[in-house]
Amino acid sequence: MVDELVEKISEETGEPEEEIKERIGSKVEELSGLVSEEGAAHLVAREEGIELAEAGDKELTVENIVPGMNRVDLKCKVVDISDINTFERDEGEEGQVRNVVLGDRTGTVRLTLWNDQTEVGDKIEEGDSIHIKNAYSREDNRGNVELRVGDETKIGMMEEEIDEVADTGNSSGGGHRKARTNQVMNENVNYEVEGTLVEIYADEPFYKACPECQKKVEKEDGSWRCEEHGEVEASDNMIISAIIDDGYGNLRTVFFREQAQELLGLDEDPEGNLETVQSGAEDVKGEEIVVKGRSRYNDFFNRTELIGNEIEYKSDDEMLEEKLAVVR
Ligand SMILES: [Zn+2]
Repeated sequence: MVDELVEKISEETGEPEEEIKERIGSKVEELSGLVSEEGAAHLVAREEGIELAEAGDKELTVENIVPGMNRVDLKCKVVDISDINTFERDEGEEGQVRNVVLGDRTGTVRLTLWNDQTEVGDKIEEGDSIHIKNAYSREDNRGNVELRVGDETKIGMMEEEIDEVADTGNSSGGGHRKARTNQVMNENVNYEVEGTLVEIYADEPFYKACPECQKKVEKEDGSWRCEEHGEVEASDNMIISAIIDDGYGNLRTVFFREQAQELLGLDEDPEGNLETVQSGAEDVKGEEIVVKGRSRYNDFFNRTELIGNEIEYKSDDEMLEEKLAVVR
């Protein structure tokens, strides 16, 4: 399969097949194994502006967009268009920026429009299915990937509609992409990460919540008030953050309620008991864990983190087996 693609790229570019193979190899390495050889071949082809569609290919999806891609070709749905924000540039001139959120079944990505480009936002509407050609991707100042348009970028309406867009809420629908901690950079993508629980923060593991809707409540005149349900008897809901380290980097992961309970190996809700939580945290610190979750951007810490949905501890046997596999 890859050979066919190599042949085709070589034909189109006139570059020897050996060189194409080398480029594909270094692309796989560059992306730390995040893409397959086949995926990398498509990236190389796109950099050359070659359409590999007829070679029975997989199309680029949002989860495969990483910073530094020069010819991004993406079919997606417009999820959100922001208003134009104006800001003052260094020279005192006015600058404009506008964000468009694009999505497909694998996740969402932000398209950033600057100055005159902000007009693009007037030509598309939320819900439109569009085909972007020749956009490029960069890492933004928060460490997330973003798309940008250049002089050669074309945006067209698609006739066929994209109906499936990854849920950007807190549910975990869809598959989870296996990733190293340092590869978790797109927002709203389902990732599966494996590593050691090197730190668990359990100093303030509870927040006051409405027992009906589980939302955070505020204290008003000595009683707890939920925005929706009025005065309530607040419950102590658990929130635990942990640091997962896999040797490539580390990732802050947040666990709420049942997931926090499962993380700490607690049979029942600790209902505000700090000691129970802290001894649970001590017990699991240093364990190997596999977490499936959804990424989100954390404004406060200025980094992408994971919201844990599914947890699996690796048994000592499994770990031993893996170590032996490496030794062999
Ligand atoms: Zn409520």
